[in-house]
Amino acid sequence: MQPIQMVDLKRQYHHIKKEVDDAVMQVLESTVFIGGKQVQDFSTNLASYLGAQHVIPCANGTDALQIALMALELQPGDEVITPSFTYFATAEVVALLRLKAVFADVTPGTFCIDPASLEKCITPRTKAIIPVHLYGQSSPMARILEIAGRHGIPVIEDNAQAIGAEYRFPDGSVKKTGTMGLIGTTSFFPSKNLGCYGDGGAIFTDNAALADRLKMIANHGQKVRYYHELVGCNSRLDALQAAILNIKLKKLDEYNASRRRAAEFYNKAFAGISQITTPVVAAENNHVYHQYTLKLEGVDRDGLRQYLEEKGIPSMLYYPVPVHRQKMFDTVDLGEVDLPVTDWLTERVISLPMHSELDEEQLHFITKHVSDFVHR
Ligand SMILES: *Cc1c(COP(=O)(O)O)cnc(C)c1O
Repeated sequence: MQPIQMVDLKRQYHHIKKEVDDAVMQVLESTVFIGGKQVQDFSTNLASYLGAQHVIPCANGTDALQIALMALELQPGDEVITPSFTYFATAEVVALLRLKAVFADVTPGTFCIDPASLEKCITPRTKAIIPVHLYGQSSPMARILEIAGRHGIPVIEDNAQAIGAEYRFPDGSVKKTGTMGLIGTTSFFPSKNLGCYGDGGAIFTDNAALADRLKMIANHGQKVRYYHELVGCNSRLDALQAAILNIKLKKLDEYNASRRRAAEFYNKAFAGISQITTPVVAAENNHVYHQYTLKLEGVDRDGLRQYLEEKGIPSMLYYPVPVHRQKMFDTVDLGEVDLPVTDWLTERVISLPMHSELDEEQLHFITKHVSDFVHR
């Protein structure tokens, strides 16, 4: 059996090695390392894949969120609502820009922001909402957009974990995650569903004026070289990463389908085990399983992780500490924060290996050892 990893980048690379190596060599020979055709092509290709009007590539998913917030021209102290049950970066950029993070709770089934909790967080100072499509499925966008629209608040979708996922609106129309709010952001960190071989990110929008502004902010606030209209930052996707992403984008649907098959194998294997709750997929979602995350009840989670590690099976806790309990927020006045579902989930979740290269032998091995531990 092949060794089991949380994400098997090596095996995936070997399947596309020739194409990737050729593309990388071409960039090296061209010596166009910044900008150029590969980056331009990737923006166009990703826009057409997503059905978005504009894609602005940038250096990473955290920058993408930061640039999106910068484009909204907020004032220090303006409030931005995010879930606390997410990767730290979602709220980090809010704090970095001296905005006030306001944390909403999530739904225990889907791990995504709970619209009822979100609505309770809204005040006259709320200036943005950032739902996170956690673990690979869409947040309940119809309700989020309805609430946001009623209050005139822009929505930025953090789509770092769900690229390729789809959401069906009540009227039957289907949209890719990241294309439903005013702005969408993503990350091409190597372990993401569409990962490059270094750092990368992108921002999406259908609004042409906003796209110009986002582009300008990502490029030192300049439209014309050496003429700086505003304070921006330096955030670029480089040509080598774009060349690799152009190849991997063509495989994204296939990779996401493999992840879905692995998830179905896991679901079936754990179906009869009362101590384990498998991921809940909302009926309107096409899940792309960035993570496969179980909820445990009455199972010694640390014991299970130790037991699996001894068998050569990695597992992870995403995330061991929710954002609102991170030390850096000790000195920030968050007001009254009560997130019972977030705290409850943090104690119970465990993520198993999930990637495009998992085979049946590995899946059988993993599920057998999880079951053995739970039943012993
Ligand atoms: C990975 C991730 C980010 C940040 O992406 P980087 O490219 O690592 O900066 C932001 N939000 C979420 C939800 C993520 O999973």
